[in-house]
Amino acid sequence: MNKTRTLFITGASSGYGKATAQYFLDHGWNVVATMRKPDAGLFTATEGQLQVLPLDVTNADSINSALSQATATFGRLDAVVNNAGIGLLGAFEATSDALLREIFETNTFGVMSVCRAAIPHLREQGGGALINVTSSTAIAPMPLVAVYAASKWAVEGFTESLSHELAPFGIRTRIVEPGYAPTTNLGANGAHRMQGLTPPPYDAFAQAYFAKLQNYPTAYATEQDIAEAVFRAATDEGDQVRYPAGSDTRMLA
Ligand code: NDP
Repeated sequence: MNKTRTLFITGASSGYGKATAQYFLDHGWNVVATMRKPDAGLFTATEGQLQVLPLDVTNADSINSALSQATATFGRLDAVVNNAGIGLLGAFEATSDALLREIFETNTFGVMSVCRAAIPHLREQGGGALINVTSSTAIAPMPLVAVYAASKWAVEGFTESLSHELAPFGIRTRIVEPGYAPTTNLGANGAHRMQGLTPPPYDAFAQAYFAKLQNYPTAYATEQDIAEAVFRAATDEGDQVRYPAGSDTRMLA
């Protein structure tokens, strides 16, 4: 039996997920880095330490297959981290039904699907950490993120309830709540997603608001902040559920 601990993480191709996977590798864990388009070249790992698997959180078959392969390879999963997510910046009245559902399919239902599939593995092995990455916008909503904030707030309620439901099985269910960082989520992709979503009269307001954000560098989180918070959440044996990471966007609301 391999005694090294194992991390299973979604959305490890970029941003927080990639940084977190590398952080655990650097701390001697085995890592199952899942992503929609597997690329093992993203990481520095020793022989046998890393498994890169395809996983789309909106596809149940890919979730089940990745969890089964990971368990077969490493024996047990000590931390399962739901990191995959998509950002959305824009006026709610300009957000189409299709976009609204796309955000929830990934950020909310995708997380629930991975949790439901992972729980039997964690329960049968006698426990582990189940960690959902949300966002500080869930509790301190900023303007122009209503749908995103709702998708993350739903995960927070879900996770808080699960933490009680799964505690009897030794499963430590946790929320890592990052502040803003210019990853692709709310950086390049986010900006792209904003196009057409801030029509007049929101346009000038949006420009002014995001200019204001630039003036609060201390409000920003780093990828390192998030990786460290996920590591604390994975290794802490106490009963804490929430792990804020990096900035506090309350000052920006
Ligand atoms: P990135 O865009 O850099 O990373 C998001 C990851 O999610 C990518 O690996 C992406 O994969 C993956 N992903 C998206 N959709 C799916 C899907 N259907 N199935 C599997 N993987 C998917 O953004 P971040 O690193 O910033 O985001 C990571 C998490 O942190 C997200 O949950 C985000 O909401 C949250 N967060 C981010 C904040 C920020 O300011 N950046 C603030 C607060 C929370 P692919 O490469 O295939 O697109």
